[in-house]
Amino acid sequence: MKIKDYEINYTEEELKRKIERETLDIELISKDFAGYKNLSDGNKKAIDHLVRAGKIINDVALEQDHPLNRDMKSKLEEAAVENHYASLALSLFNSLNGVAGYNGIDKDPIEIFKGIHLLAGHNFYPSDMSMEEFHQILINMLQSNEIEEVRRILSARTMVRREKNKLKAIDYTQYFAAEFSKIANELEAAAFYTDDEMFKDYLGWQAQALLQNNPEMDMLADKHWAIMQNTPIEFTLSRENYDDAVTSSVFENEELKNMLVQHGIEVVSKDTLGVRVGIVNPQGTELILQFRKHMSYLASKMPYADRYHQNILNGEELKQTMVDVDLIDLQGDYAQCRGGITTAQNLPNNDKLSIKMGGGRRNVYHRQVRMSKDAQKEKEMLEKLVDPSLHQYYDSEVDHLFVIGHENGHSLGPDSSYQNALGAYKHIIEEHKADTISLAFMPEYVKSGVIDEETLKKVYVSYICGRMLLNARPHMMLPHRMGELIQFNYLCQNGIIKETENGKITIDLENINRVLNQLLKETIEIQLSRSVKTAADFVEKYANWSALSAKIAAIKQEIGVKPYKRIIRRF
Ligand SMILES: [Zn+2]
Repeated sequence: MKIKDYEINYTEEELKRKIERETLDIELISKDFAGYKNLSDGNKKAIDHLVRAGKIINDVALEQDHPLNRDMKSKLEEAAVENHYASLALSLFNSLNGVAGYNGIDKDPIEIFKGIHLLAGHNFYPSDMSMEEFHQILINMLQSNEIEEVRRILSARTMVRREKNKLKAIDYTQYFAAEFSKIANELEAAAFYTDDEMFKDYLGWQAQALLQNNPEMDMLADKHWAIMQNTPIEFTLSRENYDDAVTSSVFENEELKNMLVQHGIEVVSKDTLGVRVGIVNPQGTELILQFRKHMSYLASKMPYADRYHQNILNGEELKQTMVDVDLIDLQGDYAQCRGGITTAQNLPNNDKLSIKMGGGRRNVYHRQVRMSKDAQKEKEMLEKLVDPSLHQYYDSEVDHLFVIGHENGHSLGPDSSYQNALGAYKHIIEEHKADTISLAFMPEYVKSGVIDEETLKKVYVSYICGRMLLNARPHMMLPHRMGELIQFNYLCQNGIIKETENGKITIDLENINRVLNQLLKETIEIQLSRSVKTAADFVEKYANWSALSAKIAAIKQEIGVKPYKRIIRRF
């Protein structure tokens, strides 16, 4: 069937399989949830406005992601009213939150319509522009001394369009002026109703940041957001730049790269926006804060700690807040479930002005996401792939502890100038670093009594069996999966992960920590090298797809994986 001249790429049967058998539900909380009922009336009213703000952000993210998203979505919604085939396609659209995206399993992106392709530059850049053309235009513009315009083009907060044979950048506050103004109104209404002073204050700054073409306003909003430890409501306007593969490609052109350095032009990939709304869970937050206490100590134990400045060691104070959150809504970037859905997130990222200006970070953990799982499939996976002696240590609940260590790991190690110097490899190395810090430092929490020996074993076994045994060969645009593949091969090559005679995976729990510390040291060396080639060599060496990986993936696919997510909203 056709939707606005475009044929749907999958048969009704194929869509049915994706939606009914390959989709995992993520159920968000409803108004019956105890934590919600306990809120003051003012805070409940504030939440209604924040949810409305989220819906508008979703339109912004759709526009950023693909030029045809908004149009195709509304056409699908129309058709879905009376057509089942269209309603299945709409479900897939809502899962990807767009016309196309990777599902984490298939090598090629999932593209809902024939002829509508996933774009490397999304809608940030003109869809008909090649990387070569992009680089050449920037070189020409720099040669004709248009330094400031090039600076804007390579900033995180602009949409880039053609203008004759050049490019021009449009600030988000201009391009999305209508949407941002509506969102600011909702945030101001929420600020009026909430009875939490700190939250009120933050919402005011965030509303202003949406109205002014001025990154310093984002910085102020971020700084006020990051210090909220004891507010009852969670609201985040996220700005992350994992989607854009075009901006960072400028580093691949030596001539352009040198010109950018010479003019002191910073290159930052484009931000996709998202909104998260929720309620802070006090018990879950307490556990996370126990981990937090150790971060300064861990910073001093990092390999080569004397060779770089670590953001968290700003004076004596640890500028990191952390909360565990029951989710009410996820919109925009958060709802683009393309190969996964995030279980926690530590913002702002290092490229943001507030971090550069000494602001802190806020780390939010997603309870409803981590609690969504398929217990039957987990059991089958263990039986088919893992040595029986290890089954007692598999516990998907402790994955949460790994995630806490991973998120804290982003706050340790060499700063963003080292990370960004790795060009196309920066995200892979940074995510891999955070994983490795979490695993290598986990015994420190045993020493300090936060967890016991048994739990430590569970963290290792559950991480390796739950995450490292990949469903499919990852590609460069899936940095977390690439990191897991690197670690898997490293542990195999160092004799920690082995195959038994019965073809099952076994883990040397005696020696794993020594090898993980060695891996951490090598990983920090890569960031310190600031060399794209060093990073590329490392990734090439360890991200190979072995016969063992292929075998594991085949078994997992036979068990049946659920690459798609459906966010079930109750507000
Ligand atoms: Zn991460």
